[in-house]
Amino acid sequence: MSDTHDFDFDTLAVRAGQQRSQFNEHAEALYLTSSFVFDSAAQAAARFSGEEAGNIYSRFSNPTVSMLQDRLAALEGAEACIATASGMSAILTTIMALLKSGEHIVASQSIFGATQQMLGNILPKFGIETTFVTGSEPAAFRAALRPNTKLLFIETPSNPLMTIFDIAALAEVAHGGGALLAVDNCFCTPALQRPLALGADLVIHSATKYLDGQGRVLGGAVCADKTLGEEVFKFLRTTGATLSAFNAWVILKGLETLDLRMRAQSASALALARWLEAQPQVARVHYPGLPSHPQHALAARQQSGHGAILSFEVKGGRESAWRLVDHCRLISITANLGDTKSTITHPASTTHGRVSPEVRAASGVSENLLRIAVGLESIGDLQADLARGLAASAG
Ligand SMILES: *Cc1c(COP(=O)(O)O)cnc(C)c1O
Repeated sequence: MSDTHDFDFDTLAVRAGQQRSQFNEHAEALYLTSSFVFDSAAQAAARFSGEEAGNIYSRFSNPTVSMLQDRLAALEGAEACIATASGMSAILTTIMALLKSGEHIVASQSIFGATQQMLGNILPKFGIETTFVTGSEPAAFRAALRPNTKLLFIETPSNPLMTIFDIAALAEVAHGGGALLAVDNCFCTPALQRPLALGADLVIHSATKYLDGQGRVLGGAVCADKTLGEEVFKFLRTTGATLSAFNAWVILKGLETLDLRMRAQSASALALARWLEAQPQVARVHYPGLPSHPQHALAARQQSGHGAILSFEVKGGRESAWRLVDHCRLISITANLGDTKSTITHPASTTHGRVSPEVRAASGVSENLLRIAVGLESIGDLQADLARGLAASAG
């Protein structure tokens, strides 16, 4: 699989990046070793100086991790991929590698709660300020640019309202201001959206979600061109937010079914969204596959599928939303998403609970909002579960 450009996505998802050992194993091997042995002192020196390619120490190179990186790079159409211990460490590593004190980030307000916390409350301690932009209008992002802006950071579709951001337009805004565009591609994965082809410079992943796809391990990744990839790698190899070989192996196997899962789970999400929209206890459904979604057309243009996450507002307030959640017997009450098991959360009191009420209101995370990540259970069983919850929601 050296010339990966000749193969389609489904083929790459199963075969890209595989390296076989002298035993010719068919499944990818799991290399649980912290270091690698050299033939001689001279070889050790050549490896350390970079004169000779090869593994040294698993903080910065491991064949199982390399196989995952090469496969994900092929799927995103990236020259480089650097795997990290989690999605949050992918974001932190990227920012620490590419920005310095005194520089500025423009980020969407509608991003993952922990990402908001990192940008808003942690990075300012190190002299990196972020301006948060409400809404998805490219002009609003342009207006927030400063001479020292180095990065535009977005998530599309965003969590939990499924707002779509125009990647090509925002890449133009970023580049016009001398900044890079990073896209958190967690919700779509490369199966449904390839941000680099639309002009983004960096793709961020929480591999914890759909890339593993079965709720088993934490992981993350950054995909970019060779130059940016080298910068991110240089930072990671010294600072150590490295993905473990075991987690890489699990995620590598997850990638083999990524396309199948994304399409099946997206189809169920669309069916469920349509059904929810017709329920009298539901005030509003947020799902880009519905014509009622304000950016339905943009989603259709930018994505090859609508994804498996939807959110909806139940009539009433927090009490009604909590009653619904508490009456689901099948759908799990858990923070994870991207699992084959469907999950439900009340964002205002969980993932966005640490966000101030004003910011929460500005990003549309209301007290009656619930988010569902649709898994692979039968649609009939999921509907029955939600019907029970909806009936109970009115109290
Ligand atoms: C979960 C998530 C993250 C963080 O990933 P971890 O693997 O939990 O660190 C970042 N962005 C989005 C959109 C997420 O859903």
